[in-house]
Amino acid sequence: MALIVQKYGGTSVADPDRIRAVAENVALTKRRGNDVVVVVSAMGKATDHLIALANSVSKNQSGREMDMLLTTGERQTAALLSMALADRGIDAVSYTGSQVGIITDTAHRKAKIIEVRGDRVRAAIAEGKVAVIAGFQGVSTDKEITTMGRGASDLTASALAQALGADACEIYTDVTGVFTADPRIVPQARKLAKVHFDEMLEMAGAGSKVLAMRSVEFARNHDVPLHVRSAFTWEQGTLVSNEEPSVEDPIISGVVTDMTEAKITVLGVPDQPGVSAALFEPLAEANVNVDMIVQNTSTEGTTDISFTMPMADLAEAKSIVQKVAEQIGATKVTHDDDIAKVSLVGAGMKSSPGVAAKMFRVLADEGVNIQMISTSTIRVSIIIPSADMERAAIALHTAFGLDSGADYSAPLPERK
Ligand code: ASP
Ligand code: MG
Repeated sequence: MALIVQKYGGTSVADPDRIRAVAENVALTKRRGNDVVVVVSAMGKATDHLIALANSVSKNQSGREMDMLLTTGERQTAALLSMALADRGIDAVSYTGSQVGIITDTAHRKAKIIEVRGDRVRAAIAEGKVAVIAGFQGVSTDKEITTMGRGASDLTASALAQALGADACEIYTDVTGVFTADPRIVPQARKLAKVHFDEMLEMAGAGSKVLAMRSVEFARNHDVPLHVRSAFTWEQGTLVSNEEPSVEDPIISGVVTDMTEAKITVLGVPDQPGVSAALFEPLAEANVNVDMIVQNTSTEGTTDISFTMPMADLAEAKSIVQKVAEQIGATKVTHDDDIAKVSLVGAGMKSSPGVAAKMFRVLADEGVNIQMISTSTIRVSIIIPSADMERAAIALHTAFGLDSGADYSAPLPERK
């Protein structure tokens, strides 16, 4: 008998119909003779609504109270799904993260898992029951309720799969798998049968929303293969694992597009030791997630520094940078939120030189001007004007041989 962990994301359980559809799939999996452990997210945009609710009653919410509030979203889904399973003759029991012994550190809203005990899940399985667990949450070493960051139900699933020694960890979502590009932008995108964890991590870092970064990190480090698939079509999805790509695999696995970043440029920065530290330390302290950084070679003792960060952090970053710029004697601070990041990701890059050169040639032929470049061993990212993003992504997808040969025709999920 196989033990299968199934995780259902917010859109998969967004309304009563969806919860019933999910219950059908869980019941089917169980009737086929498997043991099933289910992890659920909050229904639809429930977490966003709870955050908005908190913002409307208070200006500075404590992490503890926010976690008390936010964990109710997942708890609701777990109870409802258990009821729907009972209707189908399946003995199901819901649990909070705390009840199943997901022990975390004390960092509210971004807690890290220290240990997964899972005793009650094992007992439920032994009794032939389906355990339905509220995702994204745990209990701290101080006995407080914690959450582990947005999208962390995936993490609950991989952590439980690892602790229970599950045979499979299925992540059900609103897309049919991991694609070579976002089909809403590149119609010729195709579903990948498999992706290496390292590629998935780079894709998440480059802006892919399919799996949350920390969940991929955990799954990679503990070697828990994830099967990303759709709760709408139920078809075979994408296997994310540590399996090394074979020589026949394409050099590039995907073109990732991201419009959620903005750029700040500090002009006329004195070229002296300590200025970068002076600039980026306060940003780090304010938890601004700086992504790409470019510093020009200095001419006449000054230089320009540009960097990107999430659009949501732009206002805060600007005010910090403005202050520092005055202190260090820089001439001017400008910003640009009409930018897009386009990244090529592929494990094959390690053994195949010339990817960046080819990328730049394709963009040159398209007349796209590159503003910033950054690379890792298996990724090349560029910043370009957002108006050019779609054209650039489509051209790169074609040039690197990723086109499926037919336009994507399935219904497109809502943008997250
Ligand atoms: N409901 C939480 C969120 O929206 C956790 C999750 O869905 O994984 O971030
Ligand atoms: Mg999610």
